[in-house]
Amino acid sequence: MRQSLVIGNWKMNGSLQNNQALLQGLIQGSDEALQKKMGVCVPFVYLQQIKDLLKNTVISWGSQDLSEQDSGAFTGEIAGSMLIDFGCKYAIVGHSERRSLYNESDELVAKKFAKAQKSGLIPVLCIGELLEEREAGKTENVVKRQLDAVINSQGIAALANSVIAYEPVWAIGTGKTAFPQQAQDVHAFIRQDIANRDATIAENVQLLYGGSVKGSNAAELFAMSDIDGGLIGGASLKADDFLTICQAA
Ligand code: PEP
Repeated sequence: MRQSLVIGNWKMNGSLQNNQALLQGLIQGSDEALQKKMGVCVPFVYLQQIKDLLKNTVISWGSQDLSEQDSGAFTGEIAGSMLIDFGCKYAIVGHSERRSLYNESDELVAKKFAKAQKSGLIPVLCIGELLEEREAGKTENVVKRQLDAVINSQGIAALANSVIAYEPVWAIGTGKTAFPQQAQDVHAFIRQDIANRDATIAENVQLLYGGSVKGSNAAELFAMSDIDGGLIGGASLKADDFLTICQAA
């Protein structure tokens, strides 16, 4: 039985004051059972604050990226070992905004995935197609290519300790959500593609859906058999909205 998981991706949002209010809202509005399903991936500079505020809870936290390097002369980069110092459990890798705005290739994402695991973090691997790729009938090819970049370089066993987020790029931050069956079809394809190589890993790996999930559509998405929760952008910035989504998982 897979545990449900809902991770908030705050992106480049927040302030010391707003973070405190948001996290207090999440803590006050949840019991331990709900908190076990909850995670927040926050800007690097707020990790100490988040660590302090969440220390007496079972809410998890993490980063939105990490370096593929260990340490050294890489100005501006953040190493996995540093994230461990701040209590991170998760590191998002390959978010579509990193792939498109910062030209992160499948190969670089695979290296970041590996570095996260080597550091003791659980990588949240984001995969998903562009609108034109969906319209051209290439959705399955694209998600398979993005997944294969990790599996072929790290081995199928690496997926055992990871989370995969299917995020159709056309649904991220646009208000356009995939229909539940549309999302389920891709999740089922991903799980089957993994099962072709290792049935146990496929059965256990958490597959999250991301793309304009809101309180009003979360329940129908999470009711799908291969959708184990969500990666939530905009709606993770308001405590009530995020709590409603977590309750639906
Ligand atoms: C995301 O940032 O991963 C995301 C899914 O954003 P939104 O929920 O705002 O579409």
